[in-house]
Amino acid sequence: MTSKGMDGAMSKQCMCGSQRQYANCCGPYLAGEATAPTAEALMRSRYSAFYQGNIDYLIATHQLDSRPPNERTDLIKSVKNTRWVNLLIVSAHKGQAKDQSGTVEFVAAYRPALRLTSTAVTEPVAQLHERSRFIRAGHRWFYVGGDILMPYQPQRSQPCWCGSGKKFKHCHG
Ligand SMILES: [Zn+2]
Ligand SMILES: [Zn+2]
Repeated sequence: MTSKGMDGAMSKQCMCGSQRQYANCCGPYLAGEATAPTAEALMRSRYSAFYQGNIDYLIATHQLDSRPPNERTDLIKSVKNTRWVNLLIVSAHKGQAKDQSGTVEFVAAYRPALRLTSTAVTEPVAQLHERSRFIRAGHRWFYVGGDILMPYQPQRSQPCWCGSGKKFKHCHG
């Protein structure tokens, strides 16, 4: 399973924000060569799958009983309408190799994809602040579901959640 345009991507920094190379981060999971050892690793790899539009991976890592009936159609729509720009892991609770379950709180920054009719408008960056629930079955982790949280507000002098590199107080001004 190789995606078009991913040549050379293995040596690039992973899109999940881990600061690691793709080949040493989400790459092997998305390629089906390894399974994510922790809930956080699965969370990161699912973000990377959303980023790439790897719908098969998103479905395969979603716990069977929790999948909505029109999941593939919904995911296709979501991938088409969204440009993911940053992932910030806020905290992770349990979800280690020996745990049965875990949660990961994160902020994913995105822009709505431009509609073909609109002209060079930069859509403002928005955030998805969620606490996701994961369970382990055997040596594999699965996404169960998530609770949407209130918009994430860092301290004013902390880096912004959008990944701009600016302090929060100087971003979205
Ligand atoms: Zn990664
Ligand atoms: Zn920002």
